[in-house]
Amino acid sequence: MGSHFQTIVDLDATSADAPTLAARGLDWLVEEGIVRAEGTDCVLGAPLGHPPGLLWAKAVGQEDWEPSDGLKIETGRTVFHGGQGDAMYAVCPHCAAHVDLFTEEGDTIADAWEPFGKAMETWHDTGRAAITCRRCSRAGDLTTWAWDDDYYAFGYLGFEFWDWPEFSPGFLSRFAHVLGGHRTVLVGGKL
Ligand SMILES: [Zn+2]
Repeated sequence: MGSHFQTIVDLDATSADAPTLAARGLDWLVEEGIVRAEGTDCVLGAPLGHPPGLLWAKAVGQEDWEPSDGLKIETGRTVFHGGQGDAMYAVCPHCAAHVDLFTEEGDTIADAWEPFGKAMETWHDTGRAAITCRRCSRAGDLTTWAWDDDYYAFGYLGFEFWDWPEFSPGFLSRFAHVLGGHRTVLVGGKL
């Protein structure tokens, strides 16, 4: 067993409505039989999570293996990230320029990375931060930048599943619908 995770992050949830949306998402997952309602010791970083339900396979693309661990729901302002590794580049929301953050050798490009690192700290503290693109000179809200391999997501609600096979696109779109048609992103990785 590894410690692989997939987190469905709701990009439109606010600090005010995240708890309600968390409950709605969980209710749906339980009704569908994808997770169980009761909490057990099945997630990293929290005493209790929701273990896989009998119909867990409805959520995944290929039933490569049976999920061993459960669901932890995160609410509150959170920098979601892919764990090991990092995003090699960020993508400007205006001009789609790729801003390289690391060299091919894996060294940080300090003057490129610095504004992003600062913006992440500011967003974590205040919930608002923007970065000016070096290519088009326009400022883009940190939450609207895209990332290599969807490595980062900035939001108030995440459904973090531990050690599940890869989710299917159909499941992800049904779940986004349950969340009111919100924009969601899947952040996955290992710890
Ligand atoms: Zn740009």
